Amino acid sequence: MAERKPEWLKIKLNTGENFKELKRMMRGKTLHTVCEEARCPNIYECWANRTATFMILGDLCTRACRFCAVKTGLPTELDLAEPERVAEATEQMGLTHVVVTSVARDDLKDGGALVFAETIQAIRKRTPLCSIEVLIPDFLGNWDALKVVMDAKPDILNHNIETVERLSDRVRSKAKYNRTLELLAKSKEFQPKVPTKSSIMIGVGETTEEIIATMDDLRRVDVDILTIGQYLQPSPKHLPVKKFYHPDEFAQLKEEGLKRGFKHVESGPLVRSSYHAHEQVESAAKA
Ligand code: SF4
Ligand code: SF4
Repeated sequence: MAERKPEWLKIKLNTGENFKELKRMMRGKTLHTVCEEARCPNIYECWANRTATFMILGDLCTRACRFCAVKTGLPTELDLAEPERVAEATEQMGLTHVVVTSVARDDLKDGGALVFAETIQAIRKRTPLCSIEVLIPDFLGNWDALKVVMDAKPDILNHNIETVERLSDRVRSKAKYNRTLELLAKSKEFQPKVPTKSSIMIGVGETTEEIIATMDDLRRVDVDILTIGQYLQPSPKHLPVKKFYHPDEFAQLKEEGLKRGFKHVESGPLVRSSYHAHEQVESAAKA
């Protein structure tokens, strides 16, 4: 059993006007955000600063990862107008960097790749200056589907490794550690100029050596950006937290990452894949 939630994980509640306005807008457009579905601890900060991650392809996932708060179920038919609504919301919010992600749609032949591509195109058409990051599922290893996404040229291709190799099967559902690495390698093959990014959540029972080995594996497939955050148990039914890492340990891991050649490492207790995403894209472009 892990100790009680430490002080540095207590979140300041900021339900200011921007946050409320954004929430109303999401409801009005029947859009889903991962900020809400995954109960992200940064929601007040990000939304108050008008940053959000859209979740396309519905809010029901065909998988059931043991750390994830997204609902599992059989999704209904595709919402073909969704790309346009995401683009509209991006424009109305005046975003300069938008993150688009989805549940895993293993029920679809292309895993939803075409909808990702259409969303990128729709956003680009309305807001050509806004950089676009996609955080994609593994499409069950369908690399033709991946190519459809890469052909739409996102500004960042993000796919999470989530945890170390030894714990991968226990923590994630259906995903495979090596398939994740292969996806990241293929993305670079298809579009060598598009930076790649991946995230590890720690606190599920991994060792420091295993975290470092995961960094090495990600660097071997030329991943540019790494984020490391603390795992927080979304409900008592989810995987328990094995360890709360101290902010100093996160700082050390950041150093290790930079030493290994990542262009940008975001590492901290409340860091999530899309946290400070705008800064990440800037430093990947500069490096
Ligand atoms: Fe949303 Fe990402 Fe910010 Fe979390 S870190 S609130 S998911 S934009
Ligand atoms: Fe959550 Fe896993 Fe589904 Fe992703 S694939 S939304 S992590 S249950």
